[in-house]
Amino acid sequence: MEKSAPATSQGTLTQIQYLKGVGEARSRHLAKLGIRNVLDLMEYFPRDYISRKIEPKLKELRHGDRAAFTAMVSWVDERKTHKGKSILSVGISDARSTLVCTWFSYPKGFPQQFKPGSTIWLNGQLTEYNGQLQLVHPQVEFVDRLEDEGDFWKKRDHLPVYGLSGNLTQALLRKIVYSAFELYTQSIEENLPPCLLDKYGFLPRKEALQKMHFTLEPGKVPEVRKRFAFEELFYSQLLWARHKRHHNSHTRGIAFENKRDLTTRLRKQLPFTLTGAQKKVLREIFTDMCSERQMSRMVQGDVGSGKTIVALFAMLLAVENGYQAALMAPTEILADQHYANIVDLVAELPVKVCLLKGGSFKGKAQIKKDIGDGSANIVIGTHALLQEDVSFFKLGFVTVDEQHRFGVQQRATLARKDNHPDLLYLSATPIPRSLTLTVFGDMEMSLLDELPPTRKPVQTFIRSNNKIDIVYREVAKELEQGQQVYVVCPLIEESDKVDLLDAERLHKHISTKVFPQYSCRLLHGRMSTAEKYEIMSSFKTGETRILVSTTVIEVGVDVPSASVMIVEHAERFGLAQLHQLRGRVGRGARQSYCYLIEHLPRSRIALERLETMARTTDGFLIAEKDLELRGPGELFGTEQSGLPQFRFASLVADQPLLKQAREEAFSIIDADPELDLPKHAVLKKHYGRELAAKEKLILY
Ligand code: ADP
Ligand code: MG
Repeated sequence: MEKSAPATSQGTLTQIQYLKGVGEARSRHLAKLGIRNVLDLMEYFPRDYISRKIEPKLKELRHGDRAAFTAMVSWVDERKTHKGKSILSVGISDARSTLVCTWFSYPKGFPQQFKPGSTIWLNGQLTEYNGQLQLVHPQVEFVDRLEDEGDFWKKRDHLPVYGLSGNLTQALLRKIVYSAFELYTQSIEENLPPCLLDKYGFLPRKEALQKMHFTLEPGKVPEVRKRFAFEELFYSQLLWARHKRHHNSHTRGIAFENKRDLTTRLRKQLPFTLTGAQKKVLREIFTDMCSERQMSRMVQGDVGSGKTIVALFAMLLAVENGYQAALMAPTEILADQHYANIVDLVAELPVKVCLLKGGSFKGKAQIKKDIGDGSANIVIGTHALLQEDVSFFKLGFVTVDEQHRFGVQQRATLARKDNHPDLLYLSATPIPRSLTLTVFGDMEMSLLDELPPTRKPVQTFIRSNNKIDIVYREVAKELEQGQQVYVVCPLIEESDKVDLLDAERLHKHISTKVFPQYSCRLLHGRMSTAEKYEIMSSFKTGETRILVSTTVIEVGVDVPSASVMIVEHAERFGLAQLHQLRGRVGRGARQSYCYLIEHLPRSRIALERLETMARTTDGFLIAEKDLELRGPGELFGTEQSGLPQFRFASLVADQPLLKQAREEAFSIIDADPELDLPKHAVLKKHYGRELAAKEKLILY
């Protein structure tokens, strides 16, 4: 295989269509798999490895398992149902046990490929039928008949199995993978320096890539794969290390001075004492703000952990230094709520607070004028604050509420504004640590990991929908005590597609049949902002006692006397969402309850979600579980979140590796910021090629 390469000057970056055996049509299918050049193909790792040897394994298999194994065909049976449909059954064995595989649809000529006595490889999930384990529609490979794959693969004991697309076949993939390595092995470049390879015992890249495709010991593949995961994580951390270095040495922020004026006065008049966590986080924020560096810090704290007050202290520090402070909320309802709270809290202080919303309203021009001439000290608003033609007199501090989904480029834009204001992000969604290290590597983190002592953890119960009457009886007691109730439902109106309870029907049922004596209103996303606002306000004042809604109730909405949350079809909600929903109760001093109503059937994962909710109220635990169950992509949403698309690394399984990669990257940049040392030449070259452009966009 190590024949020297007659490669074109592009080496492994040669476009895939020029590789022997590919051509234009196939290259289009390969592109769908992300394979554009030879290197992409080399990095397209098998999903599985077929062994030609039959190892007794059937006995260990259980219902629900996913299994891939090699076995012998014992018998083949094709028959027709009374409706004239064909069913194919194939009996297989591994010399000790037997199993039946079944196909209800298959291409013509398929059954003839199964020859009793021949060896096949199967991959599928075990199910049970009439008490018998079986495989329905497994993936099959006919191990004995690989003639079309050339001499090389014929002699191998193990064969790679690739993910496919279009009319690509395993045989074709194997063939072109082989020729890629035959021609281009010599052009494979190393991208980790010798010191790291030695330290972690990683194989050189060339060798590791070959092992991934041509392994003799599939059991050792995970160990080889680690090197690729490390590379990926390491380079993403190198970017953050460079970012931090650049930021610390180039960007001058504002060095505020702790004058103990407005902040001290606020502390003295608060009706409560700050929690230990609030004090700790405030120290972290003040240290940042009083340094010359521009602050970029995120405060993560569960709903109700008291982030607003923390942000207010920081705003007052800016104000007592003669600067303006801004608070951006994601929605108008939240902006209103912050405004009302903050006006209250600073009532005794010489601080002017104003509220700027989008659209046109009376007095807007005056507010803009106050912002422009500096008479407004604290400005609260939605994103309109940054988007509209609002110019600040002397903006020194910006806090962004509930907006951890801001991508890194948006953060960079905000950071470059005016005087390079200090930036504080508030997040009510606890974020798993591996994500903060990869997505928010440009920020410092503060954790508000303690709730005010007045809060009791919400008690959570999983109830089946046929026991809903018992739930209503328990809820009735809370209503009698003057408490308020949220009922959340996934759909607005009846749908013929799915058989689900919808908010409209539920509202009608509750207001006429269950609790006709209490005022009960409906809130959903198709209502106008004004309508939603009016309904929310009437719930806040207590005039409405029961609020039936879809998930539109804003995060962070604070109604202390709401002590019950009922979530219908809880099996359909994600963990993060359930946690957010539950966070709307438990805001007052009274014990609160959350009823998760499940409708059968539900999946095993759905049950796991519900049980997690019932077991803990710790947002960080819930976030880790969410990451485990869903994976980072879904957990974190779209591209704009800046979530790096890792091909090799898993943010769940590779957390220890991430920690190592981060330490290495930061210590290298610390010692050699421009990667000029000869021993880092490999890094410099690779970094320049892959990341320099990205670096330009995000540095601030
Ligand atoms: P969140 O972190 O969800 O934004 P808020 O800042 O809205 O939380 O605070 C929730 C409630 O808790 C507010 O009514 C606030 O006044 C109150 N609160 C904040 N800190 C404390 C404290 N240390 N002790 C008691 N109550 C507090
Ligand atoms: Mg808040």
